[in-house]
Amino acid sequence: MEDSGCVFCDIVHKRADSYLIIQNEDTTTFLDSSPIAEGHMLVVPNKHVITMDQLNDRKAANELMQSIIGAAHLLVKAGVCPDYSILQDNGEHAEQDIKHVHFHIIPRHANDHVQFNLQTNSNAQQEEMMRNIYNKLKITNGGL
Ligand SMILES: [Zn+2]
Repeated sequence: MEDSGCVFCDIVHKRADSYLIIQNEDTTTFLDSSPIAEGHMLVVPNKHVITMDQLNDRKAANELMQSIIGAAHLLVKAGVCPDYSILQDNGEHAEQDIKHVHFHIIPRHANDHVQFNLQTNSNAQQEEMMRNIYNKLKITNGGL
């Protein structure tokens, strides 16, 4: 399945140019055209899936994780960076830009001034809130 208006489907099916790094049956890895750092890669499932919770193909999911690890390994092995961040957004409120699952593999260096600025939500951190959300998740999951 693919989406004709999707730039990542175009890259997967080679209708659009990219700096393709690795492609296999289930995943494609290529350089991000708007890199945060030199060597910033994207890893995508070849199948058009918008968010992670829609990725219900176990083999494709396993291949996706293998490709993410492979991309990270490649960056380190090639001497691009000693460290890296892996980011992934799902949905409008998570500020997902391209509506096709993608993982950012971002090289990190000393003093690179890359900031993600994730702050602890002090309300969500309160004991009652923690207990409520924990119970909700536990009940939904059928208990632990
Ligand atoms: Zn797509």
